[in-house]
Amino acid sequence: MLSKSQTRSRLTTPSSPPIIVWFREDLRLSDHPALNAAAKSGAPLICLYVLDDTIGRAPGGAARWWLAQSLRTLSTEIAARGGSLILRRGAAVRLIPDLARESGARAVYWNGIAQAPHQAVERQLEAALSKLGVASQSFPGDLLVSPSAIRNKEGRGLRVFTPFWRRVLSLGDPPKPLPAPKELGPGEKIASEAPESWKLEPSKPDWAGGLRETWTPGEASARTRLRDFLEHTARTHISDRDRPDRNGTSGLSPHLRFGELSPRQVFHAARFAAAEDAALGPGVEKFLTELGWREFCRHLLHDHPNLATDNLQTNFDGFPWKPDRKALAAWHRGATGYPIVDAGLRELWHTGVMHNRVRMVVASFLVKHLLIDWRNGEAWFWDTLVDADAGSNPANWQWVAGCGADAAPYFRVFNPQLQGEKFDPDGAYVRRWVPELKALPAKLIHQPWQATPIELASAGITLGKTYPRPIIDHARGRERALAAYAKIRKG
Ligand code: FAD
Repeated sequence: MLSKSQTRSRLTTPSSPPIIVWFREDLRLSDHPALNAAAKSGAPLICLYVLDDTIGRAPGGAARWWLAQSLRTLSTEIAARGGSLILRRGAAVRLIPDLARESGARAVYWNGIAQAPHQAVERQLEAALSKLGVASQSFPGDLLVSPSAIRNKEGRGLRVFTPFWRRVLSLGDPPKPLPAPKELGPGEKIASEAPESWKLEPSKPDWAGGLRETWTPGEASARTRLRDFLEHTARTHISDRDRPDRNGTSGLSPHLRFGELSPRQVFHAARFAAAEDAALGPGVEKFLTELGWREFCRHLLHDHPNLATDNLQTNFDGFPWKPDRKALAAWHRGATGYPIVDAGLRELWHTGVMHNRVRMVVASFLVKHLLIDWRNGEAWFWDTLVDADAGSNPANWQWVAGCGADAAPYFRVFNPQLQGEKFDPDGAYVRRWVPELKALPAKLIHQPWQATPIELASAGITLGKTYPRPIIDHARGRERALAAYAKIRKG
């Protein structure tokens, strides 16, 4: 009988047909079911990433920047295990069968993505490969639970978060994460494209300086962030999570978006930390609920592929939005005259993320105070967020606008001044992102329009010149929003 090592070397002779592992939104080596199964088979591996802008929504500018870094890191990690990452650009449904033919592959493995356009491509690919006599296998990867496991009596997905999450938890813990394969090669020499030719990163102008300062994409950095959160931040997560002036959340969203960590890795690491230290329990449970929102948004997207374009509550189809290019441009630039709104939008432009509380405030301001269609805000976030997610972004925009599943009631119109005073009481967040206001005392920093001429002068501010006056009065904006809402309620 052959020993294990003899078996392995026999299976990996150059003549042995390889398995292609198609990397997608799972740019990691650990807890990668498709990679794990392929590596276990002992066949030579071809690790492949295809940049295919025809599937679903092409990523926006900030996400493309992240993708370029993440691919570079993944490529280095694969090389460190003796393999190589093959990069191709074009339609996956054509390129993958071509590569299978070229390399004599016996199978193609991937982790499924529970989104209609991705699933359509998976089915086409299976058919194309089967015609070539090449096997294919899809593994679960980007969710804690498959959408098919969470259905109501009529077979539909749940549209209210609390019962949804209760149901997910009632199914028991997700499977334990898989380890990264120790070795990945060497496979055959296969031509790969240079990622520089894909122009994923901006050059003229290079607006990514803030992203580089803020982030280190990749699996190792994702794991460090998770560990730091559980060691240092989970303890105060309950009290600090709504405070943009504090470091109270995990910062994991872009890592999760690109699959540098899987949700089940996060789930198990968090539960393990809480089991080791009971003081972390409440913070960890809250944190897991947030992971539950990610899951909820993705399940919604699975059931409503047009989440980014169609109101989930169709009575909003007749909503009297007021297109206003000037106001939208002021919102984009962080020049609305409301300090917490402007701070959030400038944080977004610089870092590619915005604190969740502030996302809610700026989104509410756009759709309610300015009466600008939520799809405009969603599109801006799509382009500027490094964590721009096909489920979470539109689902949260619809939630804020009041037209989504389990949505915030439309009549709840955030007062940006009060939100600032409550969640950034000393004004540290505003001072950081709106430095022209930094000399104002805390009691005025969220309402500079209330400062006296002397107070403004001593802070070096000229309203309307160094910092804008509010582009809309809060009370007026609120009234207008409620009147618009009343129209569709009647209709
Ligand atoms: P933590 O508080 O540490 O939460 C842990 C993880 O849970 C996050 O990394 C994220 O994956 C998930 N999560 C937390 N809150 C939510 C939520 N409300 N919805 C869905 N998932 C959540 N999140 C995105 O990942 N991508 C988006 O495109 C996105 N767009 C948003 C748009 C609007 C208008 C709003 C109000 C929220 C949006 N969110 C989005 C949700 C949330 O703001 C971010 O997930 C969060 O700020 C990320 O910070 P964190 O990783 O420190 O979160």
